[in-house]
Order: sequence, then structure tokens, then C-alpha cells
Amino acid sequence: MPENKVGDTVIMRKPHPCGGNRWKIIRYGADVKLKCMQCGRIVMVERIKFKKNLKQTIETESVDDHD
Ligand SMILES: [Zn+2]
Repeated sequence: MPENKVGDTVIMRKPHPCGGNRWKIIRYGADVKLKCMQCGRIVMVERIKFKKNLKQTIETESVDDHD
């Protein structure tokens, strides 16, 4: 599975308490910052937990890759 990056929209196995399960990645490092697309709340999870909880990447914004 390819690495995620900032700007990706993802679906997590565990939905947010608000009922939304779509998240936008707003920071991707040792910790991953996710914004709930339904209520706009921001949560931060460890990358390991994020990967474990990731169900699907549904959209990837095309941004220039600075390798
Ligand atoms: Zn939410």
C-alpha cells in the first residue's frame, strides 16, 4: 500500500463519534492530523495507529512531488 500524504481523503475503520468516516489528511508525519469532513474536528493519531485504522484512500490531490 502506498504511503499517504497531506491532502488525501481517507476512510477509517472506526468512524468519528459524529458519524462521519471520511477524513482529510492535514499533516502526515510521526503523527497524522486528520480533519473530519463531516463536523470539521481535527484529531491527531500516531502514524502506526493511523495505518492500522485506515480502510481506504478515496482521493488523492495532485500535488507536486518533491522527492
Ligand atoms: Zn466528525
